[in-house]
Amino acid sequence: MTFENLGLIEPILKALQSEGYTKPTPIQEQSIPLLLQGKDLLGCAQTGTGKTAAFAIPILQKLFLSKNDAKGKRKIRAIILTPTRELAVQIGDSFTTYGKFTGIKNTVIYGGVKQFAQTQALQQGIDVLIATPGRLLDLMDQGFISLKDIEYSVLDEADHMLDMGFIHDIRKIIAKLPIKRQSLFFSATMPAEILDLSSKILGNPARVTINPEQTTAERVEQAVYFVGRDDKTKLLIHLLQNEKIDSALIFSRTKHGADKVVKLLAKTNIQAAAIHGNKSQSARQRALDNFKSGQSNILIATDIAARGIDVEELSHVINFDLPNVPETYIHRIGRTGRANASGTAISFCDGEERAYLKDIQKLIEQKISVVNDHPFVDDGTFVPTKKQVRPPRRPQTSRSNGARVDSTNGHQAKSNKSYSRKRY
Ligand code: AMP
Repeated sequence: MTFENLGLIEPILKALQSEGYTKPTPIQEQSIPLLLQGKDLLGCAQTGTGKTAAFAIPILQKLFLSKNDAKGKRKIRAIILTPTRELAVQIGDSFTTYGKFTGIKNTVIYGGVKQFAQTQALQQGIDVLIATPGRLLDLMDQGFISLKDIEYSVLDEADHMLDMGFIHDIRKIIAKLPIKRQSLFFSATMPAEILDLSSKILGNPARVTINPEQTTAERVEQAVYFVGRDDKTKLLIHLLQNEKIDSALIFSRTKHGADKVVKLLAKTNIQAAAIHGNKSQSARQRALDNFKSGQSNILIATDIAARGIDVEELSHVINFDLPNVPETYIHRIGRTGRANASGTAISFCDGEERAYLKDIQKLIEQKISVVNDHPFVDDGTFVPTKKQVRPPRRPQTSRSNGARVDSTNGHQAKSNKSYSRKRY
């Protein structure tokens, strides 16, 4: 299958060619023809599958083919709703890239920054708006945005939207969309609540399901290091100094933990940056830009901040802490080995985390190979103190209550709740 076979027009084919895309990914192959036919779509797929292009390309093509060359301000004809600022920026970049020969204009709006630059861009007129829900509602309330001309709507990462407490905002936004439109809905998971929401948004949708779980786990080379909790930083420094690690995204369970690792690395002259919800938007963007451009090669992130981070040629993912929800492990390691490149995922596992490792191995149906030749091997004789007793794993079905699933203790759950209340 080629992009030409999918019936794409020359300006888009040219852009894809200049990006070096040679063939469509499975989600693109399945979704693009359905979307070009005008069908609503329910897509079960996560970041890393090529889903952004799967919706951006047909929307750009349809907007281009029905472009109104009459003079006057452009009207917003497509809206993409997405949960985080980082994802919004990435989707905006994708529209710009794939649409660079179409003349279709987009802008991105998100909270946490002053609104002036965003309202200015809106006032100049755009065709595609990429938005996080809170800022969109704010600007709609202030009269800067009207959704009355929307022909295409995309709800991206619907499950994360629910996790982050955006359900009411989403409902309000949906209520303002014209009834006659083409609707797209993407979610990595499809619990009952998501299906219920999708049924309110979509007409009679075509369904596309891409299950990258197995393939991600198979594609990425994985290793686990048993190490005592207090030795994790030493092991990290040891690996960064002795292994060939071109670029690493390091996951920490907590924001505080991420900052601590940055500081300890700095003491051994290893420069790293952390991104998490306590950092300002500009600090996060700066860290991400430096990482993407290759200026810095170590980024430490919490799960929520890393969501959707799309860095090409990321050689390593390091789980400084193992997640207590096994699906999160797959999301994390899927950040490396993108678009058929190979990648390596290294996990540190202390005595307390061995049960998490077991859950992960069960989910991926693989035993992760254990590296024993390192200076900080932990034999796993862990006796939990009262404080360290592992809380019960929160079931997946509780995801919709506004708290994050990958919190591991009361403190983290609380801080995430306050995060989810912030408007983006
Ligand atoms: P996404 O799932 O949209 O976050 O895309 C994941 C990554 O795959 C991004 O870096 C895209 O640039 C890249 N990508 C998307 N489609 C293709 C394709 N057909 N060929 C090669 N890379 C692609």
